[in-house]
Amino acid sequence: MKIGVLALQGAFIEHEKMLRQVGAEGAQVRLPAHLANLDGLIIPGGESTTIGKLATTYGLMDPLRDFAAHKPVWGTCAGMIFLAKDIGHDRQPILGVMDIQVNRNAFGRQIDSFEAPLAIAGLEGAPFHAVFIRAPLVTEVDEAAGVQVIARLEDGGIVGVRQKHWLATSFHPELTHDARLHALFTEMVRSAG
Ligand code: GLN
Repeated sequence: MKIGVLALQGAFIEHEKMLRQVGAEGAQVRLPAHLANLDGLIIPGGESTTIGKLATTYGLMDPLRDFAAHKPVWGTCAGMIFLAKDIGHDRQPILGVMDIQVNRNAFGRQIDSFEAPLAIAGLEGAPFHAVFIRAPLVTEVDEAAGVQVIARLEDGGIVGVRQKHWLATSFHPELTHDARLHALFTEMVRSAG
């Protein structure tokens, strides 16, 4: 199984390492041709405006949308923003795939970054230690379109969702040593294949 990691900007190397840990082969995606022969794709955290700008420059927007239409895609943090259909008043290139509304930089300056233990649907064992860095918050989900909430903060804020063959998380699972979410995504890729 070969899973691509969009490698325009952000934490793509860490995702590749985690994929190796769960027995999948990772591949860096910078050009449309790199999407060939991939079974799934991770869009990493970083800066969504930069990722969008570079993806536009490299002619990746439509190829990425076509890929996402058929194959599993997981967006973390900036990647979640990139996957959302609705990002409020922000104007920047997004793929617009998942039926969620996302609020960028939702946690304000004073808690730009924080960590929290999360119970995540589909993961067994101890709470997942989630690292949030200028993270987005999901402010609305379209349940009728099949969006399922898989993780919430203590105050109810939505930070993890699944819809069809897509997964999106507000935090950075590649910055911890917990590979359970990478294993979950790998399982989504396996069952889609
Ligand atoms: N704040 C960033 C954005 O708007 C996301 C931060 C991250 O990916 N860690 O794209």
